[in-house]
Amino acid sequence: MENTKEIEQNYQHLVESLPQNVELVAVSKTHPVEMIRAVYDLGQKVFAENKVQEIVEKYPLLPKDIRWDLIGHLQRNKVKHIIDFIGTIQSVDSEKLLMEIDRQAKNCNRKVNVLLQIKIAEEESKYGLELYEAKEIFEDWLNGKFPNIEITGLMGMATFTENETQIRKEFTYLKQIFDQLSLKKKLTTLSMGMSGDYQLAIECGATSVRIGSAIFGHRAYNL
Ligand SMILES: *Cc1c(COP(=O)(O)O)cnc(C)c1O
Repeated sequence: MENTKEIEQNYQHLVESLPQNVELVAVSKTHPVEMIRAVYDLGQKVFAENKVQEIVEKYPLLPKDIRWDLIGHLQRNKVKHIIDFIGTIQSVDSEKLLMEIDRQAKNCNRKVNVLLQIKIAEEESKYGLELYEAKEIFEDWLNGKFPNIEITGLMGMATFTENETQIRKEFTYLKQIFDQLSLKKKLTTLSMGMSGDYQLAIECGATSVRIGSAIFGHRAYNL
């Protein structure tokens, strides 16, 4: 883990290197609230975690104008713990999950922004919808099935590989799906790219990047 000064420098360099129209989502998983606070004080207002328990613990300890996104696999029975404060749920990977988010959102009188997570990587271990599933869900949503949900875009994680050609192929595929769905209803957010591949993702059309270690340093443990 790095000290506050290093994190601040990392953050400043990163912000300077990103195009103005690309949103930075700071991935703070495993990092303590003091470090998040340091980045917040430099102007960052969007953070993301991959675990419900961690986001629920950190949320009350930090300023309320932070937008907290969830980027990890979400179990249906945990939706209720985050529903009243979550920003965007970026990791919607099943229709059943979306139904539960819709139900809980109605209970607390809000409309919740979500991204459909598409499986673009080769690894079996990575979550995400197949293209046909995403299309079905999107159609259902357009037809009014999830009135308390706003689908604002798509999210994807490329294969963990050094092979740039493959990563580019996967990001390009996701961008094509994004453009295809956008013909029916304009989507605003294409969330792809992490510390190791965000430049490539931006070249391929990302509007939002999710960056952890390039800001906060290596995680002490990999969950
Ligand atoms: C951890 C994580 C990131 C950030 O990864 P870094 O390599 O640390 O930038 C981005 N997206 C998801 C879904 C993650 O789980």
